[in-house]
Amino acid sequence: MKNIIITGGAGFIGSHVVREFVKNNPNSKIINLDALTYAGNLENLTDIENEPNYVFEKADITKPEELRKVFEKYNPDAIVHLAAESHVDRSITDPNAFINTNVNGTANLLNLAKEFWTLNPDHQHGNFPGNERDFLFYHVSTDEVYGSLGETGFFLEDTAYDPKSPYSASKAASDHLVRAYGNTYGMPFIISNCSNNYGPNHFPEKLIPLCISNILNGKPLPIYGDGKYTRDWLYVVDHAKAIHQIFNEAKTGETYNIGGWNEWKNIDLVKELIKQMDAKLGNPAGFSEALITYVKDRPGHDLRYAIDATKLNKELGWKPSVTFEEGLGKTIDWFLENKEWLDNVTSGNYQDYYASQYAND
Ligand code: NAD
Repeated sequence: MKNIIITGGAGFIGSHVVREFVKNNPNSKIINLDALTYAGNLENLTDIENEPNYVFEKADITKPEELRKVFEKYNPDAIVHLAAESHVDRSITDPNAFINTNVNGTANLLNLAKEFWTLNPDHQHGNFPGNERDFLFYHVSTDEVYGSLGETGFFLEDTAYDPKSPYSASKAASDHLVRAYGNTYGMPFIISNCSNNYGPNHFPEKLIPLCISNILNGKPLPIYGDGKYTRDWLYVVDHAKAIHQIFNEAKTGETYNIGGWNEWKNIDLVKELIKQMDAKLGNPAGFSEALITYVKDRPGHDLRYAIDATKLNKELGWKPSVTFEEGLGKTIDWFLENKEWLDNVTSGNYQDYYASQYAND
């Protein structure tokens, strides 16, 4: 029996990662550690919440004493760390929240991981499933740490860090801390940096679920600047599968970029979304294009991100399982079938935030 703590498991990507680990590791205990901020929602996990190898622990990574209780209870063999403040726009209005959670919170986790890893005699001799590893700190990060690209080029694993927003700077700092603990204390770690995710359970402050929600409600579809900002998009289930595969098969100390080879300019993406939504809703073609509204640009907006995921493909054989058009179709279907989920997350505090500003990715 191995105990695997997944932080941020009630969030968008974290919930898919928890599901992937629970389903594929019946002999391990999967501990979902989450503070349930505005972005954490246990409704994301109702299908697996009664599985015998799943348990939820409410704890805040910025509070070492709360973390310690969970570590003492489970004496983990591995940490998969996703808990974070994740929305660029919020990081512009409140950078300190990002520094606190993403930098200090990660440091708190690393300190406890280091303490429990070295204290536990099993971790000196153990054998982690799939390889010789006896302990692992797996850190989930973003391609935004690399900064912004021009019209050409791709981010590789050894691209120099050049974060541009408080969000990406806080994630870059957390990546550096993880590598420093690996280098200084020998703590086994892996880092993966992924492009923009989309899919079921996506909180509707981000571009795709925001536009799905607004098309359903006949509200404006906000597009920053001239709509030419370009992102690589990956279906969230494919990200979760990549994390699970890297966790089991990759060598300790490695970094992998995860991406969809799937670049879209924001305006083209929204038009593809409108095409699919109007067809599914029985609207005339292009009906919802009237909702497109160009809004004031985000300060310091990165022009283009593009991931080269060749290393992951060549070494571990991973590739996305769906095309973007298929993944988008599945995502729209999920939102149409789960209107109650959408209503629940778009009420209360979220409405106040929504009213204060538009959001994009
Ligand atoms: P999210 O905002 O949907 O979820 C974050 C989760 O972390 C929530 O469940 C929240 O309750 C929890 N959390 C926040 N602060 C916490 C704290 N102090 N203690 C414990 N839990 C806390 O985020 P997401 O989009 O699912 O992203 C998950 C991770 O993946 C993040 O580390 C993010 O940087 C990274 N990432 C995201 C994307 C993307 O496109 N969304 C792409 C690449 C990497």
